[in-house]
Amino acid sequence: MELVKHWINGVEVGSKSGRQGEVFNPALGTVSKSVDFADLETIDSAIANSKSAFTSWSQTSLTKRVQILFAFRHLLNARKEELAAIITSEHGKVLSDALGEVTRGLEVAEFACGIPHLLKGGYSEGVSQGVDVYSIRQPLGVCAIISPFNFPAMVPMWFFPIAIAAGNTVVIKPSEKDPSATNFIAKLWKEAGLPDGVFNVIHGDKVAVDRLLEHPDIASISFVGSTAIAKYVYENGTKNGKRVQALGGAKNHMLVLPDADLELTADSAINAGFGSAGERCMAISAVVAVDPIGDELVKKIQERMKKLKTGDGTKGTDMGPLVTKIHRDKVASYVDAGVKEGATLVEDGRNIAIDGASAGFWLGPTLFDHVTPSMTIYRDEIFGPVLSVIRVKSYEEGLALINSHQYGNGTAIFTNDGGAARKFQNEVLVGMVGINVPIPVPVAYYSFGGWKHSLFGDSHAHGTEGVHFFTRGKVVTSRWLDPSHGGINLGFPQN
Ligand code: NAD
Repeated sequence: MELVKHWINGVEVGSKSGRQGEVFNPALGTVSKSVDFADLETIDSAIANSKSAFTSWSQTSLTKRVQILFAFRHLLNARKEELAAIITSEHGKVLSDALGEVTRGLEVAEFACGIPHLLKGGYSEGVSQGVDVYSIRQPLGVCAIISPFNFPAMVPMWFFPIAIAAGNTVVIKPSEKDPSATNFIAKLWKEAGLPDGVFNVIHGDKVAVDRLLEHPDIASISFVGSTAIAKYVYENGTKNGKRVQALGGAKNHMLVLPDADLELTADSAINAGFGSAGERCMAISAVVAVDPIGDELVKKIQERMKKLKTGDGTKGTDMGPLVTKIHRDKVASYVDAGVKEGATLVEDGRNIAIDGASAGFWLGPTLFDHVTPSMTIYRDEIFGPVLSVIRVKSYEEGLALINSHQYGNGTAIFTNDGGAARKFQNEVLVGMVGINVPIPVPVAYYSFGGWKHSLFGDSHAHGTEGVHFFTRGKVVTSRWLDPSHGGINLGFPQN
């Protein structure tokens, strides 16, 4: 069976840990590969290698760095179908969706190609007699990236193109559930001409994460995953003096006002609720219907759900399996809980029949109506194809509901009233807002990030916040004497 190894200094290496994880094909329900879990020696050697590569990479000219970025972008674009197939085989999402995530990641690589412009500082001539001041931004050193299973290509690409373009080196620890995409990307970097050691990959679990959090040569941590681990990473990383951005979980609401176009709204609820089997941090999981449209909206969503085809993502279906059996069973247990707590189960995906590979980790699209704020299916992030409808009497009640939830990643309002939409964008306590757009993932030149328990740290991902995160500012005050200058003055310059 294929063993997924680490990528250090431009080659694949194993470790002596003797610990390995299983990688599944979720559509078949079988183990397809194993992945090596790094021991401390392997992690330390990756960090040491990245540290040594930093010395020359950070001094490499902007022109040369950008040439390599362009070459990487070109190679990734040319081979994106292969990468999408790898993602589908380990994650389970349908091929078109896997291709979509590669494309969104590519956008960040394209943004990073503009790094010469993004790194331009300010310059003030003559702030005092003969004195000029200018600002520059410099790379941090070795930057760690720890990523989740749900976007094995896109989420790491929120960070590493910018980190590398800015002159840093990177140690990345992908999710152990779908590790192969990162190794594929590492090989593309090498082919693009990136010097060995600038992009290192270590596979593993908590052992690897903890080592990255404590190692003195790691300058920053970019983490994406569940809120409990994000909080842990933020607290421990910052305690050890590192710059940390830790993106956590979500519960994204779609507020539907009575004047909304209900056809568009129902289509959007389906796309955003069941795309990628709900395993998206920007998935809509709570539809908040303002009276009196609840019955009509639920009917329209249900009609559409009946037409969705769940099955192997390589075979032209709408929705694939969940990533592992453990995760599938956890999501199914939330459906059980919703029934027990008294929500109305409109569509039940628990016993879905799939042609062919019945052993896959299947759970069909599921819809609950009359969900209330005290239910666990409303309070918790489920991270599966389970959509809840909550009925409210007014815009104000809907807004208060969203604002009192612990998560604040994404949200959307559906309405034809521009004034109401504008009021919502101003009043809602959420980092990314869609107006008649259900999944408002910002384009690469804006920054991605939530509020409240959806993000710990000060910087969002990519865009100018990403450039700032991966660089630190320096201000230089300079005076070059000219022949007319002279004399001692112990006071502050006055003119
Ligand atoms: P996860 O928290 O289980 O894993 C994330 C990373 O942390 C992985 O690399 C994993 O190996 C590591 N990890 C797991 N357990 C650990 C532990 N005990 N100590 C240290 N490290 C540990 O998350 P996941 O299941 O892979 O991904 C799904 C979660 O990610 C969801 O909560 C989702 O909302 C979130 N997510 C958030 C965003 C965002 O932008 N806010 C984006 C994508 C995913």
